[in-house]
Amino acid sequence: MLCAAADGGELALCTGCLEDLPWQPASACPQCSLLSPFGAVCGSCLRSAPAFDITRALFNYAYPLAQLLQRYKYQQALHIAQTFSKLMLQRFSRTATFDRIIPMPLHPKRLAERGFNQSLEIARLLNRQLHSTLDTTSCQRIRLTPPQASLPLKARSRNMRGAFRCEQRLQCERILLVDDVMTTGASLHELASTVKAAGASHVECWVVARTQAKG
Ligand SMILES: [Zn+2]
Ligand SMILES: [Zn+2]
Repeated sequence: MLCAAADGGELALCTGCLEDLPWQPASACPQCSLLSPFGAVCGSCLRSAPAFDITRALFNYAYPLAQLLQRYKYQQALHIAQTFSKLMLQRFSRTATFDRIIPMPLHPKRLAERGFNQSLEIARLLNRQLHSTLDTTSCQRIRLTPPQASLPLKARSRNMRGAFRCEQRLQCERILLVDDVMTTGASLHELASTVKAAGASHVECWVVARTQAKG
């Protein structure tokens, strides 16, 4: 996908290109995936803990991964979802068990504009291996918020408040949330709060890329 090499194998990326991707280093905060010495829980999570318990990110949001994600999202290059989901399954615990997999919901208007939900496609492929329940109906996005990227970092958590509704009891369930990019974590925090308010006991986030800018 990133060079002229003929053999990208099942990931559609050759060994050289794979090695050059901005992989998330091992020393990251287990809860929010920000860089953190020795992989300890970071200061930001200690000061104000997010609603999710664990975050796993494949990459830093940097070149050329950012461009690959843009291509995936805006040119509907759906085959890229195969690569991302395979890498997630390889690198994150393959024995992880979840009662439900919930992709980050898009507002119906946003979905109509874009034509597909980029997180749903990845979640669908993950679920084929994880054999959980892919749930696209329990959680809905009820507010059409301005795109997070258009807002200064500090305004993002305010922007997300009350953005989701969960109509399902999730008593003591283990939930996997799937999203493409985590920036400040405001959307995933809000979604995680919503599913915890519905009873979920454990919430894990799997994202393709994490931006390392502090919010
Ligand atoms: Zn290559
Ligand atoms: Zn953290």
